[in-house]
Amino acid sequence: MPGFVALTGPPAVGKTTLSAQLAAVHGAQVFRLREFAQGFRHRPDADPALFATEDPLGWFSDQTVRVLLDVALLGREPTGVTVLENLPGTVNQLRTISEIGRRLGLPVMVIELTAPDTIVIGRSLARRVCPACEPDLDADPHRPAGAAAADFENCVTCGNRLLRRRCDGTGLYELKLRRFRSRIPGIRREAATLDLPYQAVNATASPADCLRRVVAALRSTQILPCLPADVPPALNGATP
Ligand SMILES: [Zn+2]
Repeated sequence: MPGFVALTGPPAVGKTTLSAQLAAVHGAQVFRLREFAQGFRHRPDADPALFATEDPLGWFSDQTVRVLLDVALLGREPTGVTVLENLPGTVNQLRTISEIGRRLGLPVMVIELTAPDTIVIGRSLARRVCPACEPDLDADPHRPAGAAAADFENCVTCGNRLLRRRCDGTGLYELKLRRFRSRIPGIRREAATLDLPYQAVNATASPADCLRRVVAALRSTQILPCLPADVPPALNGATP
């Protein structure tokens, strides 16, 4: 049965790595609001007022997120699991996702990746992105890029110089982390109110271990089918 997985967690906990694995191993589709909004903004019929924001992190209003999610998700063929990466960021966003699930008759589960501040701050300092492999419309690439074995500064795929994500290692990262920590208790309570399955998954171990735990949680609510075969052995020890 298809459904939505709302994947939240502190910045740099490993959400993008996990959703890429769910896509590669379980055929999940990955929805990223930021990328969808970039494309949507360039449509001739897009209202520029929709994207105006004075938020220091550039977040859209809950109303704008609702419009974008309605456009992106309501018109789509429900053909499998869709991971909503880095959503919800607010209680209202969770309500919107829950409502979309209800209207489509599809289950929604929230997965929260957890790790202490020391771990996520360390990961934010270590992670790199590749501006050549991910040409971003705002020149702000987000997806994790691997480094070449011979030269840690260069992309393993294309050989170009890797960069830090624009917000990493700055006050913006700290602001994002503080915002997440302050909002997640309300999101947890709202999930309970809405009767949505919610699973916190410890993400301090390896990405493969994290994937196993998430897949087990998704199977327990039948968002992923329960199969006799567990995570394929090929994945054990896989790097992001
Ligand atoms: Zn590259």
